[in-house]
This record gives sequence, structure tokens and C-alpha cells, in this order.
Amino acid sequence: MENMILQLIYLIGSITFIMGLKMLSHPDTARKGNLLAAGGMTLAILGTIFLYRDGNGEGLHNYAWIFAALIIGTVVGTAVSKKVQMTAMPEMVSLFNGMGGACAMLISIIEYRHIMANIATHTPGTGTMIVVVLGMLIGTVSFAGSIIAWGKLNGSIKDRTIAGGQAINFILFAGMIALVIMVASGKFTDMPALFYGILVLSALYGILFVMPIGGADMPVVISLLNSFTGVAAAFGGFLYDNPVMLTGGILVGSAGTILTILMCKAMNRSLKNVLIGSFGGAKAGGGEAGSKEQGNYKEISLNDTAVLMAYAQKVMIIPGYGLAVAQAQHTCHELEKVLNEKGVEVLYGIHPVAGRMPGHMNVLLAEADVPYEKLLEMEEANDQMGGTNVVLILGANDVVNPAAKEDPASPIFGMPILEVEKAEHVIVNKRSMKPGYAGIENELFFRPKSSMLFGDAKKVLQSLVTELKQM
Ligand code: NDP
Repeated sequence: MENMILQLIYLIGSITFIMGLKMLSHPDTARKGNLLAAGGMTLAILGTIFLYRDGNGEGLHNYAWIFAALIIGTVVGTAVSKKVQMTAMPEMVSLFNGMGGACAMLISIIEYRHIMANIATHTPGTGTMIVVVLGMLIGTVSFAGSIIAWGKLNGSIKDRTIAGGQAINFILFAGMIALVIMVASGKFTDMPALFYGILVLSALYGILFVMPIGGADMPVVISLLNSFTGVAAAFGGFLYDNPVMLTGGILVGSAGTILTILMCKAMNRSLKNVLIGSFGGAKAGGGEAGSKEQGNYKEISLNDTAVLMAYAQKVMIIPGYGLAVAQAQHTCHELEKVLNEKGVEVLYGIHPVAGRMPGHMNVLLAEADVPYEKLLEMEEANDQMGGTNVVLILGANDVVNPAAKEDPASPIFGMPILEVEKAEHVIVNKRSMKPGYAGIENELFFRPKSSMLFGDAKKVLQSLVTELKQM
């Protein structure tokens, strides 16, 4: 009876995952979708704890350990999630993903020890062994790689190219596969040194695989590692014959893979190029490289900006990482409303990799209640750029850099950009002439149509709103 109820709970859990994922595709329903899937997961966990029975009708033991871990995890997870800045979200996702990989790794270790304890009376099937070793390999690579990605994003680990790195990775990979075949074949199952050898090689591989990848490519790597964790969790589902773990793992695995492909497409680069291209690498992200200035730029005053915007018919705002840093989304929405009152149409041009995580600008502006219909995807924004009088770039840099179209030697060459120069006037708000994340000079700032409006995005927007209200 308990098992029947548990299967029903797993079915409900699986359905909530699928519905939740579907609801994440729109900002209006995303929050509810997240809660729905989390509710399904909670139900599945509690169902397993209280209703699971093994072949002998035995339930789980060690409730004190289980609940202590649940409580600690819930308290730490909630506190960290509430505190995290939106701009630090990718590193938190990476850390949490690493924890998922570590879980898959631990499951495999525990199951291997279980198999070894009973090996005299019970020989494990090849299928079970494949699932155990592959779960450990993929989980460990994901764990080690995610921790390195987390360190890179928070600045504690620097990008490093290791001499002969690709050859070392190839040897590690070949070694892992050889050990996996040996242990899974059954002939060497009872040799723990081989099993733990897979653990060591996978951890080294995870570290060396992520280490040389450029900082600006980390989100793609995190998404890829996320899909690895999903696959490792799905192996756990096979192992325990647990449909909810299987469904969850497959959904994470496929969603991570799709997101990886979409991000590569948005940058017009292949996954191979991302993994070995070192884009936004050691030279990038800090603003040291490329600080050589190319000619003269002109500045524009707040008053002139306000006049230009007030008399425009259409204004396109291009938000970027700097808007998120300045937390200027609410003031930006206020500017939009003031302009609307003056009969000016205001739209937002959203680049798929603006900010520091996929959908960053959409989430930021949705938080300030900017109507979703005003957010134009890059292609649509570029189509409307010709009829735009003023483009206001707020803390964006790489995503409007013409080098991506014009300079084959540029590391961002080939990445589609927001073609702001098609508009009549381009006003760029940032604090200095420093480069953006990719660490490269932006010639747009020196072009005839462009004017620089220096200052922190929030302060500049507040002053602009005051100026416009007085006009
Ligand atoms: P960039 O990082 O290229 O540029 C941001 C600009 O904002 C900087 O040049 C900085 O100039 C300015 N800035 C910083 N703080 C403020 C502030 N308080 N007020 C005003 N301006 C400010 O951002 P983009 O959004 O254009 O491009 C995103 C980059 O990040 C791309 O290279 C992308 O590949 C990469 N990336 C994207 C991820 C994603 O998934 N979206 C994840 C990780 C990286 P100054 O210092 O002079 O003010």
C-alpha cells in the first residue's frame, strides 16, 4: 500500500517538474513554476522518507541524520539565496550545481561500498556497475569543474593556460574510460583501487577542463556542467528505480544541453571554440587590457540628453551589466514613464548575453515592472533601430561593440550585436572609458554619432528624470 502511494507521489512530482519547467518560459508564470516544481520535489522527498519500503518491508532508518541534513541544507540554502546579489547569481548556480555533482559522486561511492560488502554472496550485474561508475565519473567531473567555475566567477581563481593541457586532458580522459570499462566489466569490480582511481582522474579532469576556459565563457561552461549533473542524477534514478529522480535528471540534462546550445548560438560560436577559445580570459574582465584609447570621444551634458530624449519620437534603451551593478532598474522604469507622458515611445533592446547570466536583463527589468512587451529581442531591436531617434546605452559595452562585426582579429568577432549606430543619436552611459567584460576597446565610443554621458547609471538616471520633469 505504502509503495503504491509512493509511486503516485513520484508521478505527481514528475508532472510538477514538467509543468514547472514549462512555466519558467515566461516571466509572469516563472515564480509560480519554480514553486510548483519545488513543491513536487518536497513531496517526493517526504514521501521517500516516510513511505519507502524495501523488499523485506523495511523503511528508512537514521531519521536524525536525514532531518539534520535537511534542516542545515534548507537554512543555509535559504540564507544564501536571499542574500545573493543578482550579479553574483551565476557563481551561486555553479556552486549549487557542484553540490548536485557531489551528491551523484557520493551515491556511487556508497553503492559501491554496498556492492563490495555483499560481493561474496551477490555478484552485481553489468548494468548496475555501468550506472555506478558512470554516475561517479560524471558527478565528479561536474563537482570539480563547478567549483573551479565558481572560483573563477568570484575572482578567487585566475584563468590559467596549462602547457600541454589538451594532451593531459586527453590522457586523463582515456585513463578514465579504461578504468570505467575495467570496473564495469565485472572482472576487476572487487579492486577498490581501480574504482577510486576513476574518482581521482575525474576530479583532475574536471579541474583541468575548466581551468583554461575564459571568464566570459563561464556561463556556457556552467550550463554544460549543469547538464552533466542532470545525467548523473538520472543514473541515480536508474540505480534506485526511482522515476522522479530519473525525470528530474533527464529534464536538467536536456535543459542544460539546450541552454548551452542557445548561448553558443547567441555568441555565434561553436561549443569547441568556447571550450578552447579562452574568450574573456586572463586579459579580460578587469579592465586592464585594451585601455589604450582610440582617438577622441565627445561628452554630452544631462540637460542636452534630456532635451534630445524629450523631443524624440522613439527612444531605445540598451541595458547592460552596469545597470545591474548600479541597481538602476527602478529609476530606468521611472525615466520610461516620464518619457511616455511626454508622448515618447520607449523600448528596450535586449542582447541575449547582456549582463552576467542568461535572461539577466529580462529578470532585472521585470523586477521593476517594465512591461514585457517593451523588451525586444536582439533581432527585433535591430529591425527597429533605423526608426529610433535616441539610443541610450546604460552600462552595456561588449554587446554593442562594432568590433564583433568589423574586426576579424577581435576575440568577440562573429558575436551578433545590437546595431545601435543605425539610430540617429547614440548616448553611452558608463563611469569611465574602461572596457567591458571581454577586456577589449570599444570603438563605438569614438564614432561620430556617439556621445558619452559619464556617471553611475542610477545617479545619471535620477538626474535625467528630474531634468525631464522640469521641462
Ligand atoms: P560589459 O561587461 O561588456 O560592460 C559593462 C559596462 O558597465 C562596463 O564597461 C562598465 O564601465 C559599466 N558599468 C559598471 N558599473 C556601472 C555603473 N554603476 N553605472 C554605469 N555603468 C557601469 O557588459 P554587457 O552587458 O555589455 O556585456 C556582457 C558581457 O559579459 C559580455 O562580454 C558577455 O559575454 C559576458 N557575460 C555574459 C553572461 C551572460 O550570460 N549574460 C555571463 C558572463 C559573462 P565603467 O567601468 O566605465 O563604468
